[in-house]
Amino acid sequence: MPNTVDLESLKSQFADYLRHKKYRTTTERTIVLEKIAELDRHFSADELYMTMNADVNRVSRATIYSTLDLLTQCGILVKHRFQGESAHFELTSRLPNHDHLICTECGRVVEFRNEAIDDIRDSVAEQLGFKPISHSLQIFAVCHDPLNCEHNRP
Ligand SMILES: [Zn+2]
Ligand SMILES: [Zn+2]
Repeated sequence: MPNTVDLESLKSQFADYLRHKKYRTTTERTIVLEKIAELDRHFSADELYMTMNADVNRVSRATIYSTLDLLTQCGILVKHRFQGESAHFELTSRLPNHDHLICTECGRVVEFRNEAIDDIRDSVAEQLGFKPISHSLQIFAVCHDPLNCEHNRP
């Protein structure tokens, strides 16, 4: 999927929201947003924490969690609750062009695009007398070799 992240507009959207809510735009909050834009993929709060902890600019776990909440509230992030998994986040700007497949063994999340699903959505809505707007599909599956799955870290 092409990288469509416009960091500057995300930053100003976030700053506007924080100002509106009378919160401060701190360096830490900005660093968290920059890191998310750089990742440009799905992540859980803990994954983000571990990635950021390896960086020079360390941010506390509490700040990461609270910043993720703020970014979700202002609409920059979407929070996915994949069955059995801790919440995953992604930039709203990456939607709605893909669906998700989740490995129930290792928790890996794969994005895919299949236009046949759009056709099914449209025809189901039409048959029931509705005008389709969007859809959200999650496929739960198991990878071929869960024991040796490179994503299956302890
Ligand atoms: Zn797997
Ligand atoms: Zn996604």
